[in-house]
Amino acid sequence: MMEILYKSTRGNGETVTASQAILQGLAADGGLYVPTEIPALDIPMDRLAGMDYRGVAYEVMSRFFTDFTEDELRKCIDSAYDAKFDTEEIAPIREADGMYFLELFHGATIAFKDMALSILPHLMTTAARKNHETKDIVILTATSGDTGKAALAGFADVPGTKIIVFYPKDGVSPIQEKQMVTQKGENTHVVAIKGNFDDAQTGVKNIFNDAVFADRLAKAGYRLSSANSINIGRLIPQVAYYVYGCAQLLKKGRLVHGETLDVTVPTGNFGNILAAYYAKQMGAPIGRLICASNENKVLYDFFATGIYDRNRDFILTSSPSMDILISSNLERLIYRIAGDSEEKTRELMKELSTEGSYTVTDEMRKKISDFYGGYATEEETAGTIRALYEKTGYVLDTHTAVAACVCQKYRKENGNGRKNMVVSTASPFKFTRSVMTALNPDHEKLTDFEMIDELSRIAGVRVPRAIEDIRTAPVRHTTVAEADKMAEAVEAFLGI
Ligand SMILES: *Cc1c(COP(=O)(O)O)cnc(C)c1O
Repeated sequence: MMEILYKSTRGNGETVTASQAILQGLAADGGLYVPTEIPALDIPMDRLAGMDYRGVAYEVMSRFFTDFTEDELRKCIDSAYDAKFDTEEIAPIREADGMYFLELFHGATIAFKDMALSILPHLMTTAARKNHETKDIVILTATSGDTGKAALAGFADVPGTKIIVFYPKDGVSPIQEKQMVTQKGENTHVVAIKGNFDDAQTGVKNIFNDAVFADRLAKAGYRLSSANSINIGRLIPQVAYYVYGCAQLLKKGRLVHGETLDVTVPTGNFGNILAAYYAKQMGAPIGRLICASNENKVLYDFFATGIYDRNRDFILTSSPSMDILISSNLERLIYRIAGDSEEKTRELMKELSTEGSYTVTDEMRKKISDFYGGYATEEETAGTIRALYEKTGYVLDTHTAVAACVCQKYRKENGNGRKNMVVSTASPFKFTRSVMTALNPDHEKLTDFEMIDELSRIAGVRVPRAIEDIRTAPVRHTTVAEADKMAEAVEAFLGI
């Protein structure tokens, strides 16, 4: 098998192995690791159609993580995609109103972040062993709500690791917050910051880029890594479910050989849709990549104009995990469409941090014609939840509803008959308040848990274990910090 190495989008061309990139998280120069090339999916789709989720995941990940042995990788996969998921299929497909919803919320924390974060701790501890790392790994994570809980659940009590999660105090749903602050595990720490997600993400990146701080940590026996989608160990596992989704549709006869389908992805940090792009580049039968935004529609504007401009108000919406103005993973796409140019990427990212905006060339724009940007307003999102429920009885969460709305608009405007796989990123039980009031404003007066029981009744779906677990769980984390005091919070937790 061809060896795949990784290099930084802002580096000097130096390469590292997959396991080194996973351990490192973010490159020392502030760039993101990208594979030197996208490997081909050199196995026919009908063979993949006969495999279960773990089988497909192995075929995809082994093409990218070439310095892991088969045994190492299969062990990681088997430990990740097991009974923590509430269905054998791991990522089942549900058809409703002519759309195929790829449900990625059947893991421990009922959001799609589980798809990658249930395997990342295993990849990381394996990578540490392979590279003879003796220091404890400290995972720093900024979260818009879902990554935090999924990373905490994944790393809780994993020997040799500690995890610190930063979330925006007023920027997550009540259920998301409750899930995080009740997290067990002696190695876990949760900090609410006074700021928004971009502040949290920038704070984490600043800590990563602080060489003096890294040195002090190293002397105390720690090294930093990341569980955000800037880590390639999170991105690559996400490629697997796109391939699996296509293979399952073939198996079910919903897709025929040679037919491609579009995918619609509710997007924030651009990790999920970038994984779809990688899947397409590998050879999965994907047509258009439809990038769905909420009212924070930076990406919609970018695809429409070629200008990325974060100079605008940050809007708190009912889909908080997509309330992001700086989509980190877009840098990986920029690097690719700039012809793998570190220099061009550095230049544009510098403009983003100094001016808050940058413009790509026409030549670069041509290379992203596979992408299509759309967005849904708050009203449209709520309307989509209500309409789909009334028509089919299927209840979407707010993030998935943004995607479903954009998918329907795209089909109406473009009138192609191509099938569409809408990525369903969270269970409606995670955003119950927004979902229930979208269904009926009278629900407003119910408490969070009354809403949960009512949702279970009207949708005919059992309350997920992740929700039952927090009904009575005690709060364990109460730290609140200023956004510019995140490094101090790290020191306090580590006792250095
Ligand atoms: C994180 C998240 C998203 C956005 O995914 P990105 O990879 O950041 O684009 C969408 N929906 C939900 C529910 C999420 O948790």
